[in-house]
Amino acid sequence: MNDDFYEILGVSKDASADEIKKAYRKKARKLHPDVNPDPSAADQMKKVSQAYETLSNPEKRRMYDMGGQSPFGGGGFGGFGGGATFDFSDLFEAFAGASGMGGRGRGPIPRERRGNDILRRMTLELDDVVFGSEKELTFPTAVTCSRCHGNCCEPGTGTKKCTVCSGTGHVQRTVKSLLGQMVQLAPCSACQGHGTTIENPCAECQGHGRVQEERTITLRVPAGIDTGRRIQLRGEGEAGEAGGPAGDLFVEVRVKEHEIFHREGNDLLARLTISMVAAALGTKATLTTFDGEREVEIKPGTQPGDVIRMRNLGVTSLRGDSRGDILIEVGVEIPKKLSGSERDLLAQFGEMRGEPDLREGAKNAQHSDGGVFAKIREKFRDL
Ligand SMILES: [Zn+2]
Ligand SMILES: [Zn+2]
Repeated sequence: MNDDFYEILGVSKDASADEIKKAYRKKARKLHPDVNPDPSAADQMKKVSQAYETLSNPEKRRMYDMGGQSPFGGGGFGGFGGGATFDFSDLFEAFAGASGMGGRGRGPIPRERRGNDILRRMTLELDDVVFGSEKELTFPTAVTCSRCHGNCCEPGTGTKKCTVCSGTGHVQRTVKSLLGQMVQLAPCSACQGHGTTIENPCAECQGHGRVQEERTITLRVPAGIDTGRRIQLRGEGEAGEAGGPAGDLFVEVRVKEHEIFHREGNDLLARLTISMVAAALGTKATLTTFDGEREVEIKPGTQPGDVIRMRNLGVTSLRGDSRGDILIEVGVEIPKKLSGSERDLLAQFGEMRGEPDLREGAKNAQHSDGGVFAKIREKFRDL
């Protein structure tokens, strides 16, 4: 066979180096086995690569142009033995986006690796977040090995430069592929690419520089934190490998419902139920707040649903510069059962207020004096 390299790449005889490069990338993208499963594509890809190998090298191209060289028949300068270098980065670049063959650095792989982040969940009482608090938190994690202090070697010993790769962390390997022979850089298996070897791994951590342990820390719970928020503690996560930096600790908070107060932002809502007599005459109640006991004054004539606001007794804001309020919604209990004399007293009371006698039934109430309708209003918003 006598394929023409220019034809294979689809360029003219006087194509510039740039045009050749572009043509090659275009073909390679189409023919690469990652995108083209057709077996004949692999064959074509081989030809394209060989054509490019020659035409991309000015010296080889000059010789090829002078004629006489059979493209695929071996000959004087096939393969990679001739000292000319074939720039594989051209090919790698062509696929960098598609298959992730992008360039990693070629130096040794550092032994140090950052530790993982840790996520813990913690349930808090409302008391814990009104002013903030301190909590102990125990969790399994990786900590720096105390025997080797993270350097992975038995005390008194150290790492040695890898003799297989001379400390570079990688070795050259010639592999046969559909593109022909390729020289690849592979991580050195003797040192796992680190470039150094550990002669005497630390007995405590088996050469990892860290060990698993239960750790207890004192967590400062900021005032005002609410359910779903995370506290981030930098460097309190897993210790890194081989002395690498530690990860972070995230504590996700859940604040439990309190038996009296319902939290809404930094305000605390409570409900107080009083008798209808107390609502009419006024009374006092004692509320245990997070600041101690406080007297709540219920004014005469308090209506069901009225809200009593007690300022600055709520949750401290996250910024710490203000506090929410306590809001008490008043409920009025209407007696469900009345004794005969209680009914009489209430009826008399009604009469004194000019209300019709309701003891006979509710027939009058349908028409008048049954009450006054009004639109529901948002009590909390008004106050
Ligand atoms: Zn150790
Ligand atoms: Zn090595």
